[in-house]
This record gives sequence, structure tokens and C-alpha cells, in this order.
Amino acid sequence: MLDPLLMLITVFVGAFGACMGSFLNVCIYRLPREQSVVSPGSHCPHCQTPIPWYLNLPVVTWLLLRGRCRFCRGPIAPRYLLVELLTAVLFLAVLFQFEAYPRLLGMQTLADPLLLPIYMAIIGGLIVGTFVDFEFMEIPDQVTLGGTVAGLACSILVPALHGHGVLQDPHPYWQRALVSLGHGAGAAALGAGILWGVGWLGEKSFKKEAMGLGDVKLLAAVGAFLGWQAVLFTIVGGALLGSIVGVALMAARRVEMQGHIPFGPYLSIATLTWLYWGPVLWQWYLRLLTP
Ligand SMILES: [Zn+2]
Repeated sequence: MLDPLLMLITVFVGAFGACMGSFLNVCIYRLPREQSVVSPGSHCPHCQTPIPWYLNLPVVTWLLLRGRCRFCRGPIAPRYLLVELLTAVLFLAVLFQFEAYPRLLGMQTLADPLLLPIYMAIIGGLIVGTFVDFEFMEIPDQVTLGGTVAGLACSILVPALHGHGVLQDPHPYWQRALVSLGHGAGAAALGAGILWGVGWLGEKSFKKEAMGLGDVKLLAAVGAFLGWQAVLFTIVGGALLGSIVGVALMAARRVEMQGHIPFGPYLSIATLTWLYWGPVLWQWYLRLLTP
């Protein structure tokens, strides 16, 4: 059983996740339209009426108003509710990676509490990138390039991100920070390099753009935050998942053979899988190689 303090933290993180999901919804709507994400405040997309704070509660408002604007009754997309719930669930899943909680679904354990906010930031970026990619077939530079810069900064600030935390590595902080930055920068270059190479080959073979530059930049961010194993896993996992879904959609005749399927969402799902199960999967894979 969870003790009362842990229950309080759990409720807080869940509510925080829903609030952040509400902010991510703003980013998903405004970043591709090149609008500021801070001002003006939330307003209805139909009648432009500003939404007061008591009607802007994540999850609750959407359910109470049954997905309609309070003022003009215009429909508010289910995506708003979905993103708020999804963010809350994914934030809670990171919390459950800490020792104090019961092991959930074989997820890897996290020792350094500083990883909690970093993982939350990664989740936020992936959610924004995914939903914008579905709608606009592109991933905002704020997510991909911004993510790469943030990933390198976090590599320096929290060397535990690349396995050089105080618990694993006795060297002084500045040494761990340098090695960690090297890991992040190397993995960012590897991720961008592989996807750019695949895109270049695709363009040569099919005489049309095969890989969006957004996916190339997204992989740089994944590498900067999570390292080279995450890069390889994300590319292989994303390609597998994308092919399965692509073939299924073609079989169901939902898309044309030549139709464009966004790759970003599948890369994001693979990265998320790595976030929760990465080292566990890596150990399993290494054991497969050494019978
Ligand atoms: Zn309205």
C-alpha cells in the first residue's frame, strides 16, 4: 500500500500533468500557426471569447460542458481532453519509476529525482510534436531544435541522464558533466545523421522526398536527451510500428499507396517506450546476443 505522503505526491503529479496537458494543447494549436503560447490568454476558437480560469480547469471543464464552448456552444475537439488525460497518465508513469512506488509493468527504475522534471519535459515535447505532425505533417522547430538544445543543456546539468549520476560514477561533477555532454552531442549527431542518410537514399531511389527534415531534427533531440541506444531503438521501433500501421491502413484502403504518413508519431511512441523500459529492453537484447 502507498503511504499518505506518496498518495499526496501522486495526486499532485496527476493534477500537474493535466494542467501541463492544458498548456500543451495551447502549444499544439498555436506553434504551427506561429502565435505566441503565452499571450493572449485562452479563448474560444469559434467566438474568440476569453475563457475565465474557472472554465479552464483541465479535464473537468471539458467533461462538464460536454466538449462545447460555454458561450457560443461551438464544439471543442476531443483532442483537448485526450491530451490532458494522456499527459497526466504519462507523468504518473514516470513517478512510478521511482523506488518508493510498487514496480509497474516491469518499468526501469530511476534513482535520480532530477530525472523526473527532465522526463516530463521530454514527454511534453513528444506530445506536442506528435499532435502537430498528425495535423500539419511537420514538427515545430521549438520542439525539435529547442529540444536538442535543451537536451544538451540537461546533459551538462544532470549527468545522471546518460548514466553518470553520483551513484554510478565517483568522478567530480565537471568531469561527469563533460562526459555526459559528449554522450548527448554524439547521440544527437548519430540520430540526425542516420535519418538524414535514410532520407537521402530514399530521395535518390524514389525521386521524391522520403524523410521530413522534422524527423531528422527530432532524432537529434532524442539523442541529446537519451543517448545512442535510445536513438537506435527509436529508429528501429518507429520504422517497425510505422510499417505495421501503414500496411494496415493500406489494407483497409484508408490511405493511398503514395499517401504521406507522418513518421513523427511512431518515432515518439518508440522514444516513450525507451523512456519507461529502455535499459530493461537493452539488457534483454544483449542477453539475446550472448547465449
Ligand atoms: Zn465560443
